[in-house]
Amino acid sequence: MEEFRICQQCGYGRGFHVFFKPRGARHSIGLICPSCGRSYDIGWLIPRLEGKPESGPEFKSDADNNS
Ligand SMILES: [Zn+2]
Repeated sequence: MEEFRICQQCGYGRGFHVFFKPRGARHSIGLICPSCGRSYDIGWLIPRLEGKPESGPEFKSDADNNS
């Protein structure tokens, strides 16, 4: 497979959101199309997430900083 950027279901081409799903002793990370909601399991496995996610600063785009 070459670059995977465009949703195969609806053609949305600006990338994906992610989701985390328990899989045995680990979590898998998958992709969700922000337009149609189609999910893709791409085989990413990480150690099981425990507790609440850490919070951090909000993302600020350059456009926000220049206004
Ligand atoms: Zn889509």
